[in-house]
Amino acid sequence: MSEQKDSDLEIKLQQRIKEVLGKSLHIRHVDSGSCNACDFEMNALSNPIYDIQRFGVDFVPSPRHADMLLVTGGVTRHLEEAVRKTYNAAANPKIVLAVGTCACGGGMAGQTYAGNGGVDKILPVAVYIPGCPPRPQALLEGILRALDQYEDRGESNES
Ligand code: SF4
Repeated sequence: MSEQKDSDLEIKLQQRIKEVLGKSLHIRHVDSGSCNACDFEMNALSNPIYDIQRFGVDFVPSPRHADMLLVTGGVTRHLEEAVRKTYNAAANPKIVLAVGTCACGGGMAGQTYAGNGGVDKILPVAVYIPGCPPRPQALLEGILRALDQYEDRGESNES
């Protein structure tokens, strides 16, 4: 992706956060059993290159503060309860993004005795971001699509 396209994407993200939420966007990352490569790409959003905080986006430690859940991994049986509890703890309206091929449909492991084979087996997923792992730009695109869904559901904070 060119620098110009990156810049367009970033400007659009900032505009849409303001339009849809009227404030900042708080995201809770949930690792449901990933290999950690998806998580590293997500971490890159906060590094000095992407610097996502400048657009009013923050990763928060508590689901109670989150507008959006970004879930990596295919939801292992061991982490299933934690994923459900995290989702239930987030305030409404909330929206779930499946990040990476494992989260979107199980990936290489698929559905096994040890794993559910995707986040949508457990939670309602609004946006799927494929890739193994997806690049930071793909994550930004996915967040933008999720903001559109907020609006489509009538959950915008605009009055
Ligand atoms: S999609 Fe790929 S990078 Fe992401 S958790 Fe699965 S195996 Fe790892």
